[in-house]
Parts: sequence; C-alpha cells; structure tokens
Amino acid sequence: MAYVCAKCGKQIKSLSEGLMCLYCGGRIILKERSSLAREVSTD
Ligand SMILES: [Zn+2]
Repeated sequence: MAYVCAKCGKQIKSLSEGLMCLYCGGRIILKERSSLAREVSTD
C-alpha cells in the first residue's frame, strides 16, 4: 500500500521508522486512495 505526503504530495512507498515524509519531513501521511493511484512505477 502506498502513502502520500499531505505536505509535498510525494509518494512514499516504504515507511521506515514512524510516519514521516522522507522528502520534506512532513508527518502528515495519507493513505493513497485508489482514485489517486494513477502513476504506478514498475516494480
Ligand atoms: Zn513530504
């Protein structure tokens, strides 16, 4: 399940220790909804 930072909008795929955006340091992380799951990178 992917997560999205509510501050910068970056997609966070791996949550390390605690909920924190790796890009801006924001702590508001939203669960990515299916409607927003448009861009899916190849795994
Ligand atoms: Zn962020």
